[in-house]
Amino acid sequence: MIRGRNGESSMLRRQFLKTASAGAAVAASSLPRVSLAQATGPHELPKLPYTENALAPVISANTIGFHYGKHHAGYIANLNNLLQAAPELAALKMEELIKTTAANPNRTPVFNNAAQVWNHTFYWNSMKANGGGAPTGKIKDKIDADLGGYDKFKAAFHAAALGQFGSGWAWLIVDGDKLAIARTGNADTPLVQGKKCLLTIDVWEHAYYLDWQNRRADYITAWLDKLVNWEFAEKNLG
Ligand code: MN
Repeated sequence: MIRGRNGESSMLRRQFLKTASAGAAVAASSLPRVSLAQATGPHELPKLPYTENALAPVISANTIGFHYGKHHAGYIANLNNLLQAAPELAALKMEELIKTTAANPNRTPVFNNAAQVWNHTFYWNSMKANGGGAPTGKIKDKIDADLGGYDKFKAAFHAAALGQFGSGWAWLIVDGDKLAIARTGNADTPLVQGKKCLLTIDVWEHAYYLDWQNRRADYITAWLDKLVNWEFAEKNLG
């Protein structure tokens, strides 16, 4: 859903009409990417913490371009659009908005888009170039104490991410005072249950299909070996 800003919709329409004879694919590819998806509203697309090619070859610039520039930006645009009809929700901070709408079946569209915005921002920060492998320091000690060591963590996290049927997420969280591995479907997030999130991997097909096709298991392994941002996890651990 793309809403115009500063008259961009009419500009787009003129551009579309001009290029329609060349086919819809040409018109679509000529659209500026992120700026148009940012509908006016209380929420903005957070800046990606690295360049689009920083995670290649595990996650290509092409995947990030669509995933961040289209999917994540689209959730922001949808959310801002929905909030225009819900001014009582528009003032809420993102985490509060997610918790409030999770409990209200009439607000499922707002919840889905808000939670997806939050989940994706958390996912980008869960990765970095030249990350992955076994952690050190405080997070290593906590994994050793609560999850039986890095190898057991890795196997359990991989199984959770691979075993999520359909679209969703796998997480490293703090449950009570212990680390745990969780998975959620679609837009759902452990935040709703008041859990502290440390890391997440997106296992929606749009996260890996351009690079790995049906090989979700290989994407998860490469993600664990090469991309995990343990500094982010440790910062979240507090
Ligand atoms: Mn995604």
